[in-house]
Amino acid sequence: MKITVHRGTKEIGGSVVEIESKGCRIVIDIGMPLAFNDRKFDFSDYSHLDGKELVNQQILPDIKGLYHWDENHKPVDGVLISHAHQDHYGFFDYLNRDIPVYLGEATKNLMDITVLLTPLEGEVGKPQYIADNNSFTCGEFCITPYLMDHAAFDAYAFLVEAEGKRIIYTGDFRAHGRKKGMFNRFLHAHREPDALLLEGTMMGRPGEHVMDEEELEEEAVKIMENTGGPVLIYTSSQNIDRLVSFYRASKRTGRTFVIDLYTALILDYVRGYTKIPYPSHEYDKLKVFYPMWLCQKLASKNQQKLMFKYKKHKIDKNEIRSKGKNISMLVRPSFKPDLKAIGNLNEASLIYSMWEGYLEEEVNQKFLDYLESENVKDIYHLHTSGHACVSDLKLLVKKLCPQRVIPIHTFHPTGYESLGGNICYLDDGKPFNI
Ligand SMILES: [Zn+2]
Repeated sequence: MKITVHRGTKEIGGSVVEIESKGCRIVIDIGMPLAFNDRKFDFSDYSHLDGKELVNQQILPDIKGLYHWDENHKPVDGVLISHAHQDHYGFFDYLNRDIPVYLGEATKNLMDITVLLTPLEGEVGKPQYIADNNSFTCGEFCITPYLMDHAAFDAYAFLVEAEGKRIIYTGDFRAHGRKKGMFNRFLHAHREPDALLLEGTMMGRPGEHVMDEEELEEEAVKIMENTGGPVLIYTSSQNIDRLVSFYRASKRTGRTFVIDLYTALILDYVRGYTKIPYPSHEYDKLKVFYPMWLCQKLASKNQQKLMFKYKKHKIDKNEIRSKGKNISMLVRPSFKPDLKAIGNLNEASLIYSMWEGYLEEEVNQKFLDYLESENVKDIYHLHTSGHACVSDLKLLVKKLCPQRVIPIHTFHPTGYESLGGNICYLDDGKPFNI
């Protein structure tokens, strides 16, 4: 078998891995980079370019038979998407629509809603739904997906078998979320694979204490108890574990958890796959708020009907204002006009619950400045990573005993030396035979 990591041997984001056996090829993930040419990658800077030009500029990896304009090469046999983070699927619009795309059904739903409500474009031409621990064949390969614990819902690792060899691609994962049991199971999944492509986002931050989602929930309860006004929460709407933590903390402190329409749609799209709160009579402490920008967005996309989907569970600005300290509410920079209309934030606090690095972005800095100007009393930073800490990576290597560990999705490949095992460094785009 031949492995080519097209992007990710020395960076986080933009993951693309190609595996070849006897002329048959699969590609795992087709991610958008997070940084390019030493700058934060913003696709709007490049969206005027066509696909061929994106390949010329090395933004898209040059993989023969992968893209819709390539009629000169045998198409890739299958594309696997590990999870619904754009640094793992963001370039899917460029794929040849005849190539089957293997992904979780909930992942497909999350991609669809992202396309509906963000500038991202794309459609999965031939979705093939995968399920935890259900092996399938794709050409020469036998592939087994393993559900993992990650900040993205419905995230998978893959065991890829061919020619009597076994490769494990971990995808993104952690061991301290609400599905930590998946990590414990994975430790015993397959001993001594020929190669373990191991994500190392947290490499470079050894020894850092990583709280689990339950601890985070306890901290959120304390903040909510100590806040005399509404608690504003800035987090990712697609981080289902985190939403559950804040919903539970709100319920425990007698607060109604107010989510925006976008988050409501996300919970609705994935609720069929796990037990989570979603807008319904069953969860009467969960209410839906309609931010102005989202209503305008839906109108512009001719999706007005979605605006009435949760009318029985709607909460308006007046009710939010009058309920004051009995509210916790998701916010983001685009809600500024709504927050202005709600007013009276001087007893409020903000929980910032995302990676600290995003705070350097101007839009977030301006949002925090605005909240401070509104006299929001306290700003708390309460977050835990979606990625495994170094001690859990070490445990995984120890238990799986791989023939070789290949660093991927990391800025610190040399840090892998601390994990033990045989570390095999690859370069982007250079094939490696096992
Ligand atoms: Zn991820």
